Amino acid sequence: MKTSKSITRAFCVELQQELSIVAARREYFSQEPPRTRFSFLCSTEACRARGVKITGVRYDVKPQEHPTFVAAHFRANPNYQHHADCEWVDEADGVEDEPKVKETEEETALRKAKRKLDDYIDVFDPSLKERGKPEPSSVTADKPVEDSPATPKAPSDAPKSKQPTETRTNNLERLVDSFRQAQANLSKEEFALLTLRIPGQGEVSLRSYFRHIKFAQVSDDRRVLYGGGLVERYGTGFKFKFFDRLQGKLVTLYVSPAQMQAYRSSRYISELLSHADEVRFFTVFALGTLAQSPSGKSFSVEIEDLRHLAIVLGPAKKTAAD
Ligand SMILES: [Zn+2]
Repeated sequence: MKTSKSITRAFCVELQQELSIVAARREYFSQEPPRTRFSFLCSTEACRARGVKITGVRYDVKPQEHPTFVAAHFRANPNYQHHADCEWVDEADGVEDEPKVKETEEETALRKAKRKLDDYIDVFDPSLKERGKPEPSSVTADKPVEDSPATPKAPSDAPKSKQPTETRTNNLERLVDSFRQAQANLSKEEFALLTLRIPGQGEVSLRSYFRHIKFAQVSDDRRVLYGGGLVERYGTGFKFKFFDRLQGKLVTLYVSPAQMQAYRSSRYISELLSHADEVRFFTVFALGTLAQSPSGKSFSVEIEDLRHLAIVLGPAKKTAAD
C-alpha cells in the first residue's frame, strides 16, 4: 500500500535504530569525514521485514537559512509497497479531506496547515532525563530520549484499528526545524493556529514558545530564545554574541570547552561553527535562562545542557565575484 501520512521516523540500517530525520542529520555530521550516507527502512516492522526502503532527503545538508527553504525529511520510495498495518498508511486514504467527525472551521484550517509540514510536533518535552545520558560510544543510548515513538491519542475503545497518533519529541533541534518550516511555508494565519504541548506547562501557541532575543525578559525561562549573531571560539568552547541588544546591552551565550567535551554531539556543533568564515551569521535557538551579568553591563543566556541548543547557519557571504 502507499503511505499517505508524513513519514517522521525511519529505521536507519547503519545505526540499527529508528530515528527522526533531524537525529539522522546529527548522526551523519557526527561522522569523521569522509561521511557515508545512510540507508533507511520503514519504521513498521512488517514493512521492514519486506525490505521497504524510505528515502532520507537533505539530512546530509547542514541546517541553513535559505530563501527556498526545504526541510530535511523522509519520503516514501515509490518502488516499494507498504504493509496494510504500516503506521504511515492511512486507512481513510483518499477521504482524508472529509473527516468522519464534524470539525469547526478552525479545526479544518489547522488540520490543513499541519499537512503542509513534514514533521509537525504535537508535544515537546524539555525535561533532561538522566536515563538519556548517552554513553559516548553508543548511538542507541540516545534513542529513548531523543525521539519517542508516536503514542496513541485516541481512547482505546476507538473503532479504528489505527488510531490518530501524536508526534512527541524532546529533541530541540527537531522542534526548531519544524518551527522554521512552519515559518517559511505557512501563511501568518496558518502559523498562528499551531499549538504545542509542553508537559508541566500545558498548551501554548507554537509561535509564542519561540521568543526573539530582542523581546526576551529576565526570568522568562520557559521559552526558546533565538536570534542571529556571531561566534568567537574559545578552544573547543565558544561564545555567541547576539546582534540584537536588550535594553541597549549586549547579550551572549557562552559554552565552555568542558561543556563541549562532555557533549555527545559536540562534533556536530563544531562542524556547524567551522563555517564561521563563510556565513554572514549564525542563528542560535536556546532553551535557557536569561540572566543579567553581575556588573549589570550585559545579559547572558544560560543553558543547562547542550541538548537545549540548536544552531542554524545564516546565508552564505557574498563572494568577491558577486
Ligand atoms: Zn511502512
